[in-house]
Amino acid sequence: MSPRKGALPYAGGTDVGLIRSGNEDSYLVNAPLFAVADGLGGHQAGEVASRLAVEVLLGEAPKRADAKALSRAVRNANMAVIEAAQSGVGRTGMGTTITAAMVDGTRIVLAHVGDSRAYLLHLGTLTQITEDHSMVADMVRAGTLTLEESRVHPSRSVITRALGSDPNLLVDAFEVTASPGDRLLLCSDGLTSMVEDVEIERILATSPAPQTAVATLIATANDGGGQDNITAVVVDIGGGTAVAAPRADAAPARETGGNHWLARIAWLFVAIAIIAAAAYAAYAYARSQAYVIDENGVVVVYSGVPGEFAGVTLNWLESVTAIPTDELDPITATRLKDGVRVDGLKPAFALIAEYRLQVEPSSDTSAPADPTVTP
Ligand code: MN
Repeated sequence: MSPRKGALPYAGGTDVGLIRSGNEDSYLVNAPLFAVADGLGGHQAGEVASRLAVEVLLGEAPKRADAKALSRAVRNANMAVIEAAQSGVGRTGMGTTITAAMVDGTRIVLAHVGDSRAYLLHLGTLTQITEDHSMVADMVRAGTLTLEESRVHPSRSVITRALGSDPNLLVDAFEVTASPGDRLLLCSDGLTSMVEDVEIERILATSPAPQTAVATLIATANDGGGQDNITAVVVDIGGGTAVAAPRADAAPARETGGNHWLARIAWLFVAIAIIAAAAYAAYAYARSQAYVIDENGVVVVYSGVPGEFAGVTLNWLESVTAIPTDELDPITATRLKDGVRVDGLKPAFALIAEYRLQVEPSSDTSAPADPTVTP
């Protein structure tokens, strides 16, 4: 995976930096396929995740530059990281970013997840062509944080998307058209958090060969503190391409993104509607039901159903009668301990009328306070 010697139009390199004990970044230089992955998880798990992602990408990437197929390869890498963690390789919670590119002449196809980045240097000017999937990038986009503040924010390393957690991972996949002489950079945040874009731009514009650019970028990140692993892949664009393509589509056309958001929101509404319909159906059913039950020695009538469902009770007290349960026949009295369910209030009150008949003759005959009915 390391570049062969010679004047190749591309090069890659990685360095542990000055603070970290291990290097959890991985990269791939296998023209026309290039990638950088920044592993997360600590205790070597991040290294497992980033290396696995890059290996799966190498095995699954299309032969020719194709955004959809490259995106599919990244999704397969995602599943591989998830399954590895589940089967005890690495550890639960490990993940990785990935920024992958396929170069075909001046066409560059990208698939990207996380806060590693792709930049394009065109006529000496550097443009970031990936969007960071990170909390601070979201805040910058929302206007609650400036780009400068985001560089020193305490949560700057919190990423909002990574391979290794969500089986329905959303991958940014798109294509840009470069010009001959442009230079593509893929890098991990260990470079961009230590070296400002203007400095990266200067190094890329002044380094004669990709190999020199990679070495200088890594050295400069270490000069800046080397607080994280540093990885850079540099590719010179346009070798062998005769025709300069106009940069009409400098703004990358996103293949994924908006539509997926809409789909997700739509699904959310569907889910809420299903839950609401189920809740209403349960409520309507309960309202059609009734039961009589022994409470504190007397028969009580409820509409609804006894007990609770998912922490919700669906019953409403209708009537507390004066009928003593222990004066009913023993079988009825026993059944009333748990409640006797009926289809609605009408049959419930019909039952009450029956119970009253059972109780009243005895209460009439045994009522010494009423001498008129005593024989
Ligand atoms: Mn990093």
